[in-house]
Parts: sequence; C-alpha cells; structure tokens
Amino acid sequence: MTANAVFKAARIANAEVTAWLRDHAVIVENGRISEVVSQSSIADGIADSHAVHELGDVSLLPGLIEAHAHMHTAAGPDPVYTQQSAFNDSKEFFIMRAVDHIRTTLLSGVTTMRDLGGPTDVVFPVRDAVRAGVIPGPRLQLAGAPITTTAGHCWFFGSEADTAEEVVRAIRAQVKLGADLIKIMSTGGMFTPTANPRSAQYPVETLRAAVVEAERLNVQIVSHCLAADGVRNCVEAGIHTLIHARWHDSDFSKGLAYDPDVAQMAADKGIWADPTTGHIMVGDVRIKAGDVPARVPHWAVSATTVPEEQHDAVLRDMRERGVRFVTGLDMGMAHGEFDMSAANAWSFVDLLGFSNWEALAASTIDTAESLRLASETGAIKAGLSADLMAVSGDPSNDIKDLFDCTDVVVEGRLVKRDGRALV
Ligand SMILES: [Zn+2]
Repeated sequence: MTANAVFKAARIANAEVTAWLRDHAVIVENGRISEVVSQSSIADGIADSHAVHELGDVSLLPGLIEAHAHMHTAAGPDPVYTQQSAFNDSKEFFIMRAVDHIRTTLLSGVTTMRDLGGPTDVVFPVRDAVRAGVIPGPRLQLAGAPITTTAGHCWFFGSEADTAEEVVRAIRAQVKLGADLIKIMSTGGMFTPTANPRSAQYPVETLRAAVVEAERLNVQIVSHCLAADGVRNCVEAGIHTLIHARWHDSDFSKGLAYDPDVAQMAADKGIWADPTTGHIMVGDVRIKAGDVPARVPHWAVSATTVPEEQHDAVLRDMRERGVRFVTGLDMGMAHGEFDMSAANAWSFVDLLGFSNWEALAASTIDTAESLRLASETGAIKAGLSADLMAVSGDPSNDIKDLFDCTDVVVEGRLVKRDGRALV
C-alpha cells in the first residue's frame, strides 16, 4: 500500500474537535496528515500519487485515545474470573491475551492506548512487537509494573516498594526496563483482597518523593486513588493524574469524604482525573438488566455502599472547579472489554453533563494533551500522525454512534475498512 492516501468523508471533525467539516478530505503523506481540504478543491490526478478512499456517509474523527487499560487481564462480566485469571494465568497466556486485546482495541477505533499496569515481561515485548510491525495494535504508552506496597493493590503484577527510598528505586527500575510513565497505587483497590480501598497506602512524603523522581526522569506519574485520604495525598504531592478519584471515607461506616478544597487545589495545579465511569456504567446497565450478578463487595467497603449518583455529583463538582478529565475505561477489569472505549464518552455525556462534542474532544484531543502526545496525535490537523477512526451515524447527535466503528487508520495505515478488519 502506498504511504500516501486521501480519505474522503461526509463529516470530518475540525482541528479543535468542536464541529464537522462537510464533504472534506484528509490528505496523508508518509503516515502524517498534510492537509484537510474540501473535496471540491482536491487536485485532479491525485490518484496517481495517493490511494484515494471514499469513506462515504460516515463521521471521521481522530482515533480514540484510551488512557487506561490492562492489556493482559481478562475483562468480561465476571469479576471473580477476572481477578483469579490475573492471579493464576501464565506469562505466556498473558502475552497471547494481550496480543488479541490490543488488536480488538485498535479495530474499535482506538489508535493510542495507555496501559496502566501489567507485568513488565508481558507488556514491554508486546509494545516492541507493535512498533516493529510484527503484530497490529494502537500506539502504546506503558506504565509497566505498578508500584505498590507489600501485599498492596495489584501486588501480583506490581513492583512492591514500601519506603520512599524503595519507591524511588522502583521508579528507576521501571524506567530502565522501558516504562513510558509510572503508575503508583496510593490506596488499596477492589481487585485486591489484601489491600483496603478505603485507606491510603503511602504517606504524602513518599508520594512527593515519587513525583520528584518521575519528573527528574521526565516521565508522568499517575495514581490509583479510591479513598479521600489517597486523593488528598496525591494532590498535595502533585501526582499528574488521579485515577478513579472515588473519595471514600476511611471509616467503613461512612460514605464519601469529598473535600472541595482539595478538588480546587487539583484544578489549580493542572492535575487531570480519569474517573473510569465508562466501565462502571456498563456494569450497572448489565446488572440492572439482570444479565450478570451484582458486584462482589470488598470487605472494606461492604458496610456502606455509596450510590453511583454520589460519585457522579462529586465528579461534576470537580469538573466545574476546572479539573479536566481523560477517557480511561480501565480495560481488562470487569465490564471493561477491549472494544468498549466508546463507553467513556457515553458515560461523560450521560452521567457527567458533557455535551457530545465535549465528550468527543475528551476522547481525542484532550486526552492526547494529558498523555503529552498533543504534538503527535489526537486531532485531524496538518503535521500530526494520521490516526483516524470513522463511525456510521453522527455521534454529535447520539454519542452511542461512537460504538459503530467502520474504518480505522493508524499512522497512515488503513487497518479496517467498511467494517472489515484488514489486519
Ligand atoms: Zn486500572
């Protein structure tokens, strides 16, 4: 296939991802977008030098950016199976599953995927194989093994480190092995029986040491935080992205301990949040429909179940204060299937009050900025990598049209055309 191409579509997102350009075309040269022009102004004879693709009555968007995956874990509706397989499956099984998962993700329209925690001897070779063209996949940005306390959240594929000195050493070790960013578990989590989700795992001083070291090494550092104590520690330490941001009170008998002042501090520091509402919403829809059993409560949260509406109200307040959100599904966890990245935008519209265009921008240009990839991808504009996805229908009218992916282009290469996988 020629490295040069033209993609014509009825609707193409503008460079800011705020409106459609009608009957335009994207001109691609050597994998990069060279121009976006009206179809009527395309030079005669361009087909001599470019492969011309008439995509037709579709909405062409920048490829989606999925900011939170675990490529080696099982996803699916059964949380017990997901957890047990993450404990028990072999490295070889993890690799085969990861290879399948990233292809699925790519064919759903995701052209950049950030993995926030997996075994280093699984995720790094998978990324290298994608880069070498050996297997199909989105551009991958990897955290490697998440840093956690002994028996802490995700210890079974993490890098256990307890003191500030050990955490700093663990960060250096991950970067040495090939990590693009650092994930640290500031609280326990639902996935890990020995890790209390309502309690902080690290004091603020340790997290601060982690941030200083990550910044010294020029990598981002993001943190899982389910408890308000953990959120506060992360914000004070200057962690770059809050993952989940669930604000649970550390007292098991209470609900949330949301602190608007801490949220304001996060906004003022430019800290992002990945609320992971997509997979939670999908799970709730399935549970309410009776399709799957209810979630198994963690021992530490079983005393008080917090209704999702309370979490959504907190997230809306954080956003009003200026905290910006990235689209991270938590792929690989229960209800976080690898073709479901569009559920991020759906949940932002349905639960958090985003307009459809705001949710589309969150899924592309905004998350690219958060991942420090804005000069590479996330918009359809000259100079960026030709990372594109088309859907039938119009997601600016119905956000769920984002699920109907027909065409995918990654780094200028067409990998799905008219619903048919080419890789
Ligand atoms: Zn996760």
